[in-house]
Amino acid sequence: MSQWMEMADAALMHTYNRFPLVLTKGEGVYLYDETGKKYLDFGAGIAVFGLGYGNQKFNDAVKKQIDEIVHTSNLFYTIPLAKAAMKVKAATGMDQVFFTNSGTEAIEGAVKLARKYAWLKNPEQPKNEIIAMQHSFHGRSMGALSVTGNAHYQEAFKPLVGGVKFAQFNDLESVKAQVTDATCAILLEPVQGEGGIFPATKEFLAGVKALCEENDIVLIFDEIQCGMGRTGSMYAYMQYGVKPDIITTAKALGNGLPVGAFAAVKKVGDAIQPGDHGTTYGGNPLACAAVDAVLTIFEEDDVVGHVNEIAPYLITKLEEVVEKSPHVKERRGLGLMQGLELTCPVGDVVKKAMANGLITMSAGSNVLRLVPPLVIEKEHVDEMIGILTDILCE
Ligand SMILES: *Cc1c(COP(=O)(O)O)cnc(C)c1O
Repeated sequence: MSQWMEMADAALMHTYNRFPLVLTKGEGVYLYDETGKKYLDFGAGIAVFGLGYGNQKFNDAVKKQIDEIVHTSNLFYTIPLAKAAMKVKAATGMDQVFFTNSGTEAIEGAVKLARKYAWLKNPEQPKNEIIAMQHSFHGRSMGALSVTGNAHYQEAFKPLVGGVKFAQFNDLESVKAQVTDATCAILLEPVQGEGGIFPATKEFLAGVKALCEENDIVLIFDEIQCGMGRTGSMYAYMQYGVKPDIITTAKALGNGLPVGAFAAVKKVGDAIQPGDHGTTYGGNPLACAAVDAVLTIFEEDDVVGHVNEIAPYLITKLEEVVEKSPHVKERRGLGLMQGLELTCPVGDVVKKAMANGLITMSAGSNVLRLVPPLVIEKEHVDEMIGILTDILCE
């Protein structure tokens, strides 16, 4: 074990069982550890590093901003804030944006906004129930944890935020069964990420949307993982043709700088008034310079177009592995957000892949998750498939 691992373990809370690697450098779609060993990265820092490591335009924009001004607070305007807000508004198709420092905070904000919207309609007896999905993941703060459909994550931290009910993902009847006169919001990931890479069906999203419209329920899509071009459209909802009232985004939004956002259509967003919500760092010039740069690069380099070029190739190659391997039950996913459901322990596969120079991740208990940088090329897919084939098709 290297001295850095010993130091970190001596001082950090034990919230993660880290892999025994000290990563020191990234280049394109490759990572390097302290011994100089090279890894092909199909994890992207948990679907964060969309543009890969060392994108020059991104690095230049962030460095320039550091020399100008890093932070001001939300009591003032800044140029990066204005630019990033317009960009996120356009990218999400929403009308109003609030910047956060993480995904979990974007969920907090989205849930507060939905409750405020319902409260304004009837402050005496506001609708306040939220329907979320089983096997969802929305974050670790108390509010986000309360809407996360994973009993194991919640168990030790009760009492949670009240008024939350859970339905089965992709089962419209089970959602309908949870709707009452008090339902104010339905929250879901169009493609469940941590829960095991489960894309929603078109019928399910359309059905939930109709249910929301009939009952004046706010529809919230958590696109923190599946957004930002990963599934082959800027946000996954766009290929489903089902528009939410509120969307949350983070992960790839800052290409590694910690930033997220929730955004809403005007009708709902207007419910937030000065004093209702805030943050010291959220939307600071450094984070916003990163967001502005990321979304500019998305336009200039047609990153979403690239995803649509590479993803069919990745899917074909993964299907070949499914055919050949006795250890893979099925492939699931959209675009460059792919999962292989395994019949052997996923942790062992992740470890073997790492030993062979490939970084992957797990999702749920038995799914190998592949969420590479969006800029991968076919040769990287071939390299990844070569390593996986050795491990899974023996
Ligand atoms: C990662 C994730 C979150 C939480 O984001 P953090 O930045 O880790 O707080 C919420 N929702 C989804 C779908 C995620 O993938």
